[in-house]
Amino acid sequence: MREFADIMRLIIFTDLDGTLLDHSTYSYQKALRSLSLIKKDGIPLIICTSKTAAEIEALNRKIKNRDPFASENGGALFIPKGYFGFEFEYHKETPKYKIIEIGKHHSLLMDAIKEIRESTRISIKGVSEMSIKELMEKTGLDRRGALLAKKRDYSEPFILPDRNHNNEMKRVKKEILERGLNLTEGGRFYHLMGNNDKGIAVRILTAMYKKEFETVTVVGIGDSINDIPMLEEVDIPVLVMRPNRRYDPRIKLNGLLRSGGIGPDGWNRAVLKILKKSSA
Ligand SMILES: [Mg+2]
Repeated sequence: MREFADIMRLIIFTDLDGTLLDHSTYSYQKALRSLSLIKKDGIPLIICTSKTAAEIEALNRKIKNRDPFASENGGALFIPKGYFGFEFEYHKETPKYKIIEIGKHHSLLMDAIKEIRESTRISIKGVSEMSIKELMEKTGLDRRGALLAKKRDYSEPFILPDRNHNNEMKRVKKEILERGLNLTEGGRFYHLMGNNDKGIAVRILTAMYKKEFETVTVVGIGDSINDIPMLEEVDIPVLVMRPNRRYDPRIKLNGLLRSGGIGPDGWNRAVLKILKKSSA
């Protein structure tokens, strides 16, 4: 079983792109100080992102993080075997994880993308339909990163052909909702998915930590619209600045802590502030 901090019962949910990772370079360098402190204090760091499980595992290996995570906008929760001291229901398992599936399977989402493209004649394009080269150009990911980003199980990020696409987007959205599916918006893409969101994943996992500890103080850190459901579920919601040094104006929440920095720099500042307060 994982050993947890005795004194502090903080748990941190975090978005990756534009939050812990720099929007353009995907570096977490500026958050290293706070990352090492939360490791030292035994505070769980739960990645909750639109990225795939393969992408999250690659990052977790680098930062030596072995806590549960939520992939693809809350599409599924991956809980390391033996992590909690109690049994729980799950849908799938791998040698390393028990997996709670929340979202819809990827093949169904790809069928919807094709149908919507045909019925609207709007040439939306999913990342699974892009070549590695095109995905690298659109995201700035390296070749390996782009390969991992294509390993999708529960969501499909997509783009519209034109920059000015409000009307097209309205029609696409209508078709998505009519199919009982949902969409959200990250830093770069729209994301087609089932009725999952980051908030549902946060709720399920927080309940598990509470079962283990009785009380926990939950922090959530994000930068975009798709983080709102996560930020709404936590005790301390934190917003980091976008690369233009502004906060996304559409994110308004009671008690929202504005980090005072862009992406990982803001992440670092906010976590240091929270750690200082909770140990005072
Ligand atoms: Mg983000």
